[in-house]
Amino acid sequence: MPSAISHAAMAVATGIAFAPRDVPNHFWSLSIFCSILPDADVVGFVFGIPYHHFFGHRGFFHAPLFALLVSIFVTIFFFRATELFSERWFFYFIFFFMLSASHGILDAFTNGGLGIALLSPFSKTRYFFPWTPIEVSPIGIKAFISKWGFMVIKSELIWVWLPAFLIAVLSTAIRSVAARQ
Ligand SMILES: [Zn+2]
Repeated sequence: MPSAISHAAMAVATGIAFAPRDVPNHFWSLSIFCSILPDADVVGFVFGIPYHHFFGHRGFFHAPLFALLVSIFVTIFFFRATELFSERWFFYFIFFFMLSASHGILDAFTNGGLGIALLSPFSKTRYFFPWTPIEVSPIGIKAFISKWGFMVIKSELIWVWLPAFLIAVLSTAIRSVAARQ
């Protein structure tokens, strides 16, 4: 994984770019939640679930199908005031799906660990993209506070935070120009 905080940075930048101005506050916390939730699968290690297992790290919980389930759950339970199947409802549904699914996609750009089961549950194959510029983040705080951790932070600053920052700044500029017209 890129570290959780980098997934969250991308989620917030995407929200700044695409979310309507009047979204409720919990939209932002749920955006961060959806972007980091797949990594909750590391808990499996504690219970002896091996990395390559269906429910192992980067398994089913990193697949777009799981993202779809998350987005259905979040939209139905946390946006009950929004009319079902209205334009706003579809925005939330698609947005939370994209955020949850983007987690596995971002992970597929990392250079270590096992690949991502992007087609789970239909295939057990683990995938990486042919180009993997992001230094894989170690699992656990202890390993993170190390030289490896610094390499991860450096590569995430370049490959995740910089694009996220540019997305946020450019989209804010475009939206404020559009709002004036
Ligand atoms: Zn991950």
